Amino acid sequence: MENLNPYHIAQMQFDQAADKLGLNSWMRDFLKTPDRNVSVDFPVKMDDGSIKIFAGYRVQHNNTRGPYKGGLRFSPEVNLDEVRALASWMTWKTAVVNVPFGGAKGGVVCDPRKLSTCELERITRRFTYEIRNVIGPDVDIPAPDVNTNAQVMTWIVDTYSMWNGHSEFRVVTGKPTFLGGSYGRAEATGRGVMVAAMKAVKDAGLEPQDLTAVIQGFGNVGSHTARLLAEQGVKIIGISDISTAIHNPDGIDVQDVEAYLKKNKVLEGYDKAQHIRPKEKVLELKTDILVPAALENQITSANAGNVDCRFIVEGANGPTTPDADRILKKKGILVIPDILANAGGVTASYYEWVQNVQREQWPYEKVVTKLEKKLVQAYNDVRDLAEREDVDMRIAAYMIAIGRVAKATEARGVFP
Ligand code: NAD
Repeated sequence: MENLNPYHIAQMQFDQAADKLGLNSWMRDFLKTPDRNVSVDFPVKMDDGSIKIFAGYRVQHNNTRGPYKGGLRFSPEVNLDEVRALASWMTWKTAVVNVPFGGAKGGVVCDPRKLSTCELERITRRFTYEIRNVIGPDVDIPAPDVNTNAQVMTWIVDTYSMWNGHSEFRVVTGKPTFLGGSYGRAEATGRGVMVAAMKAVKDAGLEPQDLTAVIQGFGNVGSHTARLLAEQGVKIIGISDISTAIHNPDGIDVQDVEAYLKKNKVLEGYDKAQHIRPKEKVLELKTDILVPAALENQITSANAGNVDCRFIVEGANGPTTPDADRILKKKGILVIPDILANAGGVTASYYEWVQNVQREQWPYEKVVTKLEKKLVQAYNDVRDLAEREDVDMRIAAYMIAIGRVAKATEARGVFP
């Protein structure tokens, strides 16, 4: 049986690249292990007057190249090993695109679908208070992830600011544009996925207008990816969310789906496409570009054999397992790994943080131009190394990232 523990998978991926780099054993142990695992349990008053205890985590993996950086997830499935994996992927992601941040991740075990807005606010504020001493604008900077958004980031800013006695916007990224947020940040992860997909398409000598795409997950990452791919001329033929999956070989109108979701929250009931059951089968539709943009462990040894596409562009973190990677490679499917494909979000977050430090707000065009240039550079570096070393793009991306963090670690030395 395949081991689906994300932390185990993250370490396997690390080891493959570390072997290739010939990393010595202390460096290997240091870079594999998170610097700090914070685990908190805290009470929150619910709307009905009862009090519930919630568990939350903040894992700081590595800050050798800059402050810890990474999202905050609200989900019933959150657990320490998942957060540790996600934190380490952030270290490699910031390194692969060469932004001066480290890696961290956080999460609260809760189901936002069953919480009122007031309850969500109280959970966010109390969690922020619990971790107030380990986060900070030069220390550790959270951002949105699954089920968190600009409003959640704003509650964190406010709570942290109240605690410190002055307004501090740099403590998180992914804020609204009217409160220290950056233009282009909300769509940045999807934009990065689109840029990676278009690079792969161009390298293969294909034209986007001749291609189709399937998107699993239609939240922040999936919806912007779908819209931006459609703008390039790619026909979106399959979309899924937590409730269902839809398929229309003639093309799905992304804007129409967005409008439906605004009203109905979930895709269930959408009647302009055929529904696929179970929804996971959306990953097996025949298509050119497959974008998993929901959760970890979606393409595993159990279904990789049925995946029928040319390119997998990982919008989600950790959607493909190592066993699945091997199967996909044999099938000739090019996998553009998460730490490269979805790095647009953290890159734009870095730009947001720089704007906050400078007390400026850059125009949308400037953010998009800088973002695309950086992502294209990272893509070329990874592709070229993969070719030179005859490895897949995941190992190549890890080799670049680990190499950068190891070099910085060597130079800084070991304290004291
Ligand atoms: P989100 O909460 O905005 O959206 C998640 C989407 O996935 C929703 O449409 C939800 O309905 C759907 N979903 C949940 N479970 C599903 C299932 N079993 N099958 C199909 N769909 C399902 O979250 P997001 O921010 O878009 O994050 C999605 C993924 O992208 C995560 O892996 C996250 O870590 C990663 N990511 C996010 C960012 C970012 O900037 N938000 C950046 C990099 C990576």
